[in-house]
Amino acid sequence: MSMFRLDGMVAVVTGGSRGIGRACAEVLAAQGAHVVVTYVRGADEAAKVVAAIQENGGKAEAIAFDVADMKASEDAMSDVAKRLGKLDILVANAGVAIDGLLLRVKEEDFDRIFDVNVKGSLACARGAIKSMMRARFGRVIFLSSVVGEMGNAGQSAYAASKAALLGLTKTLAREYASRNITVNAITPGFIDTDMTTSIQGDAKEGMLKAIPLGRTGRAAEVAAAVAFLSSKEASYITGETLRVNGGMYM
Ligand code: NAD
Repeated sequence: MSMFRLDGMVAVVTGGSRGIGRACAEVLAAQGAHVVVTYVRGADEAAKVVAAIQENGGKAEAIAFDVADMKASEDAMSDVAKRLGKLDILVANAGVAIDGLLLRVKEEDFDRIFDVNVKGSLACARGAIKSMMRARFGRVIFLSSVVGEMGNAGQSAYAASKAALLGLTKTLAREYASRNITVNAITPGFIDTDMTTSIQGDAKEGMLKAIPLGRTGRAAEVAAAVAFLSSKEASYITGETLRVNGGMYM
């Protein structure tokens, strides 16, 4: 028996055109899911992800909306469910990081971080959960971060937004358990993506010293955890935070 298959399932991966989201889209499709990749800018990047999945025999498509727009997010989730008949898996991955020490955090940056990371994730979850409730099955996975658990100097607003997702995870897990919908969070550590390319030199060396496995993580290593939590085999796991951080925080 092959485990962790997602055949016949419909999955949405927000911000799936690059980085961790792209890896999630590819792995979920390889496991058999029909994957809807969402993006806000970069239609070309999203089209490339869809083409790569299709070349490997998978099912994928791309749709555009800004997750910070609550109504657009909810509408997009119900459109997917209507068009494809259901929505089994939501990977709320879209996120932004704008760094700055507390005394320098601009109000507009704080608002943008919370609009995208927290409100966007909540809105997509609300849209998705509506159809999951009808189907009495669902998997919601939020991309939080190790910094939401341990803090990080220079990332107060970002860390606060990622910690907020852990509260959201546990609350939705309690609210929708009776409908057979599980809600979990993944907290990646230092993963090599566009978001982290600016971390170089001494800052990178310092971070690597704090990682017992001694290296940065790959997007595919986060995606593998997402695929597991998406699967039927993860049916008794809800409200959980799964760390994918090389031992950086335990
Ligand atoms: P990334 O910047 O490469 O990708 C982020 C994705 O989100 C992009 O596709 C982007 O277009 C999309 N996005 C941003 N704002 C959006 C909006 N308003 N509407 C729709 N889509 C939007 O980053 P990544 O490293 O792949 O990170 C993915 C997720 O994982 C993020 O939530 C991030 O906070 C989290 N994370 C990343 C790391 C890391 O080390 N890279 C560590 C912990 C957590």
